[in-house]
Amino acid sequence: MKQRLSILGSTGSIGVQTLDIVRENPDMFEITSLTARSNWQLLARQAIEFDAACVVITDTTKYDALKGALASYPIKVFTGEESLRQIVCSQEVDVVVNALVGYAGLVPTVAAIKAGKKIALANKETLVVGGDLVMRLASQRHVPVLPIDSEHSAIFQCLAGEHSPVRRLIITCSGGALRDMPAEELPAVTPERALQHPQWRMGAKITIDSATLVNKGFEVIEAHWLFGVEPDRISVLIHPQSIVHSMVEFDDGAIKAQLGTPDMHMPISYALMFPHRASRPKEAFDFMQHPELTFSAVDRKKYPALDIAYDCLRRGGTAACTMNGANEVAVAAFLDGRCRFTDITSAIEYALQKAGFTAAPSLEDYAAANTESRALAAEYLRL
Ligand code: NAD
Ligand code: MG
Repeated sequence: MKQRLSILGSTGSIGVQTLDIVRENPDMFEITSLTARSNWQLLARQAIEFDAACVVITDTTKYDALKGALASYPIKVFTGEESLRQIVCSQEVDVVVNALVGYAGLVPTVAAIKAGKKIALANKETLVVGGDLVMRLASQRHVPVLPIDSEHSAIFQCLAGEHSPVRRLIITCSGGALRDMPAEELPAVTPERALQHPQWRMGAKITIDSATLVNKGFEVIEAHWLFGVEPDRISVLIHPQSIVHSMVEFDDGAIKAQLGTPDMHMPISYALMFPHRASRPKEAFDFMQHPELTFSAVDRKKYPALDIAYDCLRRGGTAACTMNGANEVAVAAFLDGRCRFTDITSAIEYALQKAGFTAAPSLEDYAAANTESRALAAEYLRL
């Protein structure tokens, strides 16, 4: 039986690479639904190529253009964010690949879990914002949440077949685009410069998050919720080559790592095919091309966002949701040339100081915390 996929955010970096895996494996997967925010041209081409049953364009101003492009095909066209929640619940869907960016991923993930769908999760913000609620729900409904994020896929692979306690998770970090830049130069960094990631080609938001290390902080939170490991036993190590994707240390002192050239097709295919692996036309890894694998500590002064994320994780409740909301607003402002690079972390700190706090939040509480923190960040940045 083919797995029937709903890919949320199919026009983005992860979405497009997910469709590469589907294209390579026509006997294993078929596409039920695809979604995008505004790129209706690519969404239309994808829907036609993969014979999707339906598509969603969340930006309602693009609905007519998309509807026109698909007029001669039997593909249903919907618009608006509410449609995302509806399509993931369809009986024609087995697996939801969440490749949305930001807070927008939370509600569709929750809806998909409630409908009993297997989740292949790239949208880390789902777990940063509402990891407690999401993982509790997934365990109640016996729904697997399979990580696509490369570090978490690495940890997941290291844990396969293990039954003994974990001493430590070691998340590796490329250091992002500004790794070798002195801290004094960070305030003047341009968006163009911060978008030049040394190892990975990804969407703009995560590339900026990688440069501030907000992304690594989010990955610590994500790892906690996925694997149930306490913050004190999750460490972060700079590894500029991005070959070791992350590691697990066990109680006997053994350390398992997952290695490979940086390529998101690998974790995506693992999430889709687990417990099996894809057969992909890739060259064998050449150790002679990568004779050095180096590791160093994170400069916590240069990158305060990492410790802020640890604090949010320890506080629990809506703290990480507040961090995420302020970050989303500040990253968008930075990309727009409306604030400095270093204002991103300052806006997060401001929002965390001023925001309310709910210890055991419902989905509605997360929505309120998100709205509040976005407003606080906008206030701080004078947007
Ligand atoms: P992207 O910006 O390239 O793509 C995002 C997709 O979501 C697009 O299809 C876009 O149309 C859609 N989208 C964006 N905002 C939306 C909204 N408000 N409502 C509905 N649709 C919306 O992003 P990406 O780099 O593919 O990242 C997707 C997720 O995967 C993020 O959470 C990111 O942190 C995570 N991730 C990405 C990579 C990577 O290599 N790109 C690696 C690890 C984790
Ligand atoms: Mg990652």
